[in-house]
Amino acid sequence: MVRVRFAPSPTGYLHVGGARTALYNYLFARKNSGKFVLRIEDTDEVRSTFESVKQIISSLTFLGIEWDEGPFLDKQMVNGKWQMVIDEKGDYGPYFQSKRKEMGIYEKYALKLLKEDKAYYCFCSKEEIEERKKKKSITHYDGYCRNLSKEEIEKKLKEGRKPAVRFKVDFEKDVSFNDLIRGEITFNTKFIEDFVILKSSGYPTYNFACVIDDYLMKITHVIRGDDHISNTPRQILLYEALGFEKPYFAHLPMILGEDKKRLSKRHGAVSIEEFKRNGYLPEALLNYLALLGWGTEDSKQIFSLSEMIEEFDLKRCSKSKAVFDYGKLIWLNGYYIRKKSPEEIFKLSFDFIKEYGIDGEIERIKKAIELEKEKIKLLKDVPYLISFFFKDDIEIEEDVKKKIKNFKNVEKNLKNLIELFKGIDFKRDEIERVLREYAEKEGIKTKEIFHPLRFSVSGRTKGPSLFEMLELLGKEKVIKRIERFLEWLKKQE
Ligand code: GLU
Repeated sequence: MVRVRFAPSPTGYLHVGGARTALYNYLFARKNSGKFVLRIEDTDEVRSTFESVKQIISSLTFLGIEWDEGPFLDKQMVNGKWQMVIDEKGDYGPYFQSKRKEMGIYEKYALKLLKEDKAYYCFCSKEEIEERKKKKSITHYDGYCRNLSKEEIEKKLKEGRKPAVRFKVDFEKDVSFNDLIRGEITFNTKFIEDFVILKSSGYPTYNFACVIDDYLMKITHVIRGDDHISNTPRQILLYEALGFEKPYFAHLPMILGEDKKRLSKRHGAVSIEEFKRNGYLPEALLNYLALLGWGTEDSKQIFSLSEMIEEFDLKRCSKSKAVFDYGKLIWLNGYYIRKKSPEEIFKLSFDFIKEYGIDGEIERIKKAIELEKEKIKLLKDVPYLISFFFKDDIEIEEDVKKKIKNFKNVEKNLKNLIELFKGIDFKRDEIERVLREYAEKEGIKTKEIFHPLRFSVSGRTKGPSLFEMLELLGKEKVIKRIERFLEWLKKQE
């Protein structure tokens, strides 16, 4: 039975790297009919926040990555008010390491290692350790407390000193594991110091808690970012010392920005929350994250979640670092938006539209969305794209000011068009017919009137199909706007 987990530390938002790790774990679990566990590694007493737990959960939910066990956000009536509370589901809980710590789970295993002489109490303060490192010109903990006598230990404990527990690392031993993505990896323990497994505060360190929980939660495959690759040999030493069976390991390559530096805020949005705020669709993000370090033999680019599950294979994960390509993500986002109906786009972009202050009949808004659909790349662009349909004091864009100079007889043509428009049923086909007829009669190219007309009613050089746009604006608005444009044009002379 495959069991995998995503184990974020709740010290911030869910970023794309974490989301990709979660996605790959999820895909692997679904592909193998296994279970996907969400475990919160909140052993950093200072930096862990409940806010961050909520954010991580809501970002995963937004993406549509579902877990079988772990914490869930739930609405509950508390003192007559609805509140978001965290519930847990699964047979291997609790799924918060802070709760597991309270239950004494880590302490129990630390005591076991102490008893078997595989770990020792360390009473050294940070300052003492640093001082000795400097003096001896070494980078590792020097093992000062390794050989304290029983009496010395008893005495210090009696004095009330709170020790940390350090793991005894065998010197100069090779630790190897077969990474499912990178193949055989070997570390020598001379690069590993006697590391702390239980802090003097009683909190476990990441490596220790991770091993115990992966074991107790029966995790079969540990799939995580390769920033943890140097932790894996430490964890393997712990598995061996505790007599636990080891899981398989798979380390996903780092994500870089286009300048080949580690992806960070400098490059653009990195948190799922921010992508959501900017109007990215979960389908596009998932599709993009899937391709960020994995691909099919035929380099397929578009994947639904079920297709990803179908085709996912750890063996096809890339060993080399992935470069985050915002352009490609935006392209994918546009692709998924175009697949939606105007109704769906309206619903998805409702908050953006409201915030922008667009005031119009819902049916007209949907119609405007339909006309602009091809151009929408991000949901947050929707209000700007449709805005000129809904306000009369449209701005004349700089581009219009420049380009209008290239057209002759603008005033005459637009004035004539007003007259023509007055006499027709203002429908798309009829509008097209009179415009083409007019151009022919005048002996001019249609673009001589199409462009100025577009400029005058929208204030923009680009927009949706002209005839549809005119029809949706309606005769009255169109005439008013052309008149206004002519006034503006006069002032430019
Ligand atoms: N809490 C660790 C992190 O957020 C988890 C690493 C792991 O998956 O083992 O990086």
